[in-house]
Amino acid sequence: MIVWVYFSAAVGCLIQLCEGKAYLVRNLYECSTTKDVCRKTALFEAASFTQYHLHLAQQIMDSVPMVDGHNDFPWHVMLDFGGRMEGWDMRKNMWDYFQHRPDHPSQTDIPRIRQGLLGAQLWSVFTNCSAQYRDGVTKGLRAVDLIKRFTHKYSDFFRFVTSADGILEAFNAGKFASLIGLEGGHMIDSSLGVLRIYYEVGVRYMTLTWNCATPWADSVTNTVINTPVHHGLSQFGKRVVLEMNRLGMLVDVSHAALDTMYDVLNVSAAPIIFSHSSAFALCPHRRNVPDDVLRLLRNNGGIIMINFYPDFINCTQDDVYDTTFNRTASISQIADHLDHIKSITGPDHVGIGADFDGMDHVGELKDVSTYPYLFAELLSRGWPRADLEKLAFHNFYRVLKAAEQVRDSKLKDEPDDTLVDEADVPDRSCLSERWDT
Ligand SMILES: [Zn+2]
Repeated sequence: MIVWVYFSAAVGCLIQLCEGKAYLVRNLYECSTTKDVCRKTALFEAASFTQYHLHLAQQIMDSVPMVDGHNDFPWHVMLDFGGRMEGWDMRKNMWDYFQHRPDHPSQTDIPRIRQGLLGAQLWSVFTNCSAQYRDGVTKGLRAVDLIKRFTHKYSDFFRFVTSADGILEAFNAGKFASLIGLEGGHMIDSSLGVLRIYYEVGVRYMTLTWNCATPWADSVTNTVINTPVHHGLSQFGKRVVLEMNRLGMLVDVSHAALDTMYDVLNVSAAPIIFSHSSAFALCPHRRNVPDDVLRLLRNNGGIIMINFYPDFINCTQDDVYDTTFNRTASISQIADHLDHIKSITGPDHVGIGADFDGMDHVGELKDVSTYPYLFAELLSRGWPRADLEKLAFHNFYRVLKAAEQVRDSKLKDEPDDTLVDEADVPDRSCLSERWDT
């Protein structure tokens, strides 16, 4: 109690302000074992930030809507509740609803979003590759429906957003911006028409592949485990990218094969994104991005939003695919990835796509409440306020705005009617006859 009084006096302005900040401070206090509570937190042993940095980080994060590029919360609701709205409540600790699945701990709910000072989320529409050539479109649209429904149900907190300025408008209205990204081109069933409908219902990025090739793009997973199918994008795949440019939908190459990244960087008329990937130079996992691609990304004007998954943060050439490794990732190691990427691209091409609720195990940054600690750590490493505001918001805003400007420059272009080459579709067992034959 004595320490608490001392601590309260030191940062008293923080404690009464709001529940989220009080939670952060209390955690720091409870975990602190020395009287020197204002210099070092005991939460993160390897971190170098102080209470002063944390206070400043919170101020910065209060000044802009922090955007996270990738969160798999909808997938949990699809798995555990069949995508229905009954039986769970985002206003409570979602862990209570998922504790029967300890391998997939809940990392997202509204109270923890408030604590983490998150301002905007690209919710992931995801289904497994087993849905390819089968019910991928249905499952994708059902997940879109789910995101719209929970955004509406908690509309005192969320606002559905489909544009760059919409994020700002939501923030200025005191609302959290809820956006949609589609994780896996297998959910468009190789149809530009379906792609256009996803845009109509609010999808603002598509990850070209998940862990399987589509009939028009190679995934990094299929090229490593199997063999390249297209050596990047097929001709139809290039059409997909150009149609996304025409629509104003961001092209996401997380999960894509290296050759797919190169092809997209050559073809795309708009800046592209990595919605949830980290630096290959620090952890040589195939899901991460090599330095030469980071340089191309800088020239493209795009953004890499870094992933907190321990397997993508903390690995070496020797242990990278050792699945028995009980891996964790410290806040310091995550900051190292951001430092490295920034050293290659400069401060205008970095963001955060933590992959919360998509991680079967987590490191020190364990859920959506923990972002301020990362910002505090970066402050302690000398990141200026302007760079942190870019990391949080301005970079993603610029990229989405640029995609919208490309869209606006192509308003007179007709929708692309190209059909996928049948020879590229290996499984036609669930398809009826083509409409053009
Ligand atoms: Zn992913």
